[in-house]
Amino acid sequence: NLQDKLDRAFKVLKGQGNITEINVAETMKEIRKALLDADVNYKTAKTFTDQVKEKALGSNVLTSISPGQLLTKIMNDELAALMGGEATELDLKNNPTIILIAGLNGAGKTTFTGKLALHLKSKGKKPLMVAGDVYRPAAVDQLQVLGEQVGVPVYANKESKDPVAIALEGIAEGKRNNNNVIIVDTAGRLSIDEALMNEISEVKAQTKPHEILFVVDSMTGQDAVNTAKVFNDRLDFTGVVLTKLDGDTRGGAALSIKSVVDKPIKFIGTGEKMEALDVFYPDRMASRILGMGDVVSLVERAQQQFDEKEAAELQKKIRKNKFDFNDFYNQIQQIKKMGNMKDLMGMIPGVGKMMKNVDIDDDAFKGVESIIQSMTPYEKENPDVIQQSRRIRIAKGSGNKVEDVTKLLKQFEDMRKVMKQFSNPAAAAKMMRNMP
Ligand code: GDP
Ligand code: MG
Repeated sequence: NLQDKLDRAFKVLKGQGNITEINVAETMKEIRKALLDADVNYKTAKTFTDQVKEKALGSNVLTSISPGQLLTKIMNDELAALMGGEATELDLKNNPTIILIAGLNGAGKTTFTGKLALHLKSKGKKPLMVAGDVYRPAAVDQLQVLGEQVGVPVYANKESKDPVAIALEGIAEGKRNNNNVIIVDTAGRLSIDEALMNEISEVKAQTKPHEILFVVDSMTGQDAVNTAKVFNDRLDFTGVVLTKLDGDTRGGAALSIKSVVDKPIKFIGTGEKMEALDVFYPDRMASRILGMGDVVSLVERAQQQFDEKEAAELQKKIRKNKFDFNDFYNQIQQIKKMGNMKDLMGMIPGVGKMMKNVDIDDDAFKGVESIIQSMTPYEKENPDVIQQSRRIRIAKGSGNKVEDVTKLLKQFEDMRKVMKQFSNPAAAAKMMRNMP
């Protein structure tokens, strides 16, 4: 899939000191291949990679970031620009605003109609939904159930088989009840056919909607792009809704559709529940398409700091139980050098969301650092000698409580034990077996 290909492309750049004509060209070739495989058309992929290449070669790599990081950033920005740059809002200034929903069967039109109604209601609007799928009686029931769920009224007429008439009746009903947004759900087909196109074109002509949202299943790949093109040629829609972006779908469809029809993607569906709707933000989707890009830079950032020789030396010390407070202090500095803790955690997929409400500040190590700094060189190298009188002196000198010093010494001792065990594979395996 696209992800594996991008990973491979990034590998080409890993371990390179500089962005050069050659390594960028190679990487871009891989990325172009990956984009083509993900249904992006050739012209778009070529333009994109050319632009990235030009920017990458033109930028100064004398800063501390690695070529891989820099390239990730450039690609992210370019991808976002390709998908429209900014989020595009619905045009809701008309009263009532009429929104027509179009797309194939199973794309998620009815689900989206409910989601959009809830979204608008929470923004203070007073929406009405119109059940315009005349072919499947169950579709009317489906919308009515959703209406009850989200607390938004639904106009339906199971007697009628005329989608245009129902849409017009619904709009009239909405006007009578002072609904300021009227969302018209429509029937789809299993695949594109003339009858469907004629019908939806007629609904458009008669209802004169302010927004026509084309709903498409993001999991359908190249088909999604073709369908978007046909619908856009006939309807000239105002925006795209990409559904089923939950799960593993990486969002390549977003890029292809945008590049083929040049209409903004306005929403994405991320689940079956009514709340699973997000406004589309190009930069977030870019990160999603690049997927593990953030992780790549996280790894690189860490690698940069821990040079291998240093690590090997540390290993040796740990094995001999010679790991001391100097080493410990150095480790803290390394961790701090890697950047703000929260930033760092945020780069790990899934953790970012979790960390939103947790506060880790960079001062977390302040107390520990001050205690270590108040130790004499002899004490740092021989932590075992730090008994009560030395603890009192260190506490006073560093402005901490004696309990804090004792706690740190205890933690340090525990840490040493664990480290020693892990540096010995047999002991580590034994420890794992003993875990609950
Ligand atoms: P319609 O035929 O275009 O009206 O499609 P529906 O709204 O009836 O949706 C078809 C199926 O897709 C239903 O089972 C929905 O629950 C499901 N569905 C719709 N949107 C999403 C989404 O964003 N994520 C997931 N996982 N399922 C969705
Ligand atoms: Mg439906």
